[in-house]
Amino acid sequence: MSADAGADAVVTIVDATRRYRSPGNDVVAIDRASMAVHAGELVGIVGPSGSGKTTLLELLVRWQVPDEGAVHHASGLPHGWAGVAHVPQGLGLLTELTALENVRIAGGSTLLDVAVAEAALAEVGLDGLGGRRIHEMSMGEQQRVAVARATVVAPALLVADEPTAHQDEANADRIVGALRACADAGSAVVMATHDRRVLAAMDRVVVVRDGRLSEDPRAAGTGPDRH
Ligand code: ADP
Repeated sequence: MSADAGADAVVTIVDATRRYRSPGNDVVAIDRASMAVHAGELVGIVGPSGSGKTTLLELLVRWQVPDEGAVHHASGLPHGWAGVAHVPQGLGLLTELTALENVRIAGGSTLLDVAVAEAALAEVGLDGLGGRRIHEMSMGEQQRVAVARATVVAPALLVADEPTAHQDEANADRIVGALRACADAGSAVVMATHDRRVLAAMDRVVVVRDGRLSEDPRAAGTGPDRH
C-alpha cells in the first residue's frame, strides 16, 4: 500500500513498525505499515481483535511512536491536542463534570460556546442530556459525549477507536453521520470498527492483519450514495 504524501495528506505513516517488548514476549503490533490520510476523507480500519488497530490509531495521533519508520503530520498541524482529536476506547471523559462541560472544555483554555456544544451533543442524539454528569450516563451515552467532544472542534485529524461499540443501530448511524459530516467539513477522520454495517459510509477501508495493512476496495461505499 502506498504512503501517498500528497499535498492534502494530514498524516502519513511510512514503513512504520511498532513492537511491544516485555520479558518472554515480543509482539510486532504494527509491521512495516504505510498509509496516508487526507483532509476530507473518512477511513475505516477493520481487522480481528489483536490485529493492531488500536496501535495504528495511537501512532496516527502520536500517543505512540514507531520503533522503525516514521509518522509525519502535515506542516502547520499543531502538535499535541490542538488540531488532533482522539476518541479512545477508554473515552477519557472527566466523569465528575457534565456532558456539556466535557464538550465545552474541548476547545482548550477558552470554554466553547454553550450553543455550539449543545449542537454537537444533539448531533449524536444527546439533546437535553447536557446537564447530566458523566458518571450518571450509560456507556453508550458516554461514548457519544466523547464523539461530540471530538467533532465539536473541527480538528484537522480525528481518530476514533470503535466509537460505535456500545451503540444500537440508530445511535451507531448518528455517530457515523457525525464523523462523516466532520470529514465533509474538511477533517481527516479515521475510525476502527467491528461493525461492517457502517462501512458503507467510509471512503476507504484499510484491513489490519497481524500488524500488516492492506486496502479493501470492495468494503467502502462508493460515490454520493454512501451518504
Ligand atoms: P486491536 O486494536 O486490533 O485489538 P492492538 O493494537 O490493541 O490490536 O494490539 C495488537 C497486538 O499488540 C496484540 O497482540 C496485543 O496483545 C498487543 N499489545 C497491545 N498493547 C500491548 C501492550 N501495552 N503491551 C504488550 N502487548 C500489547
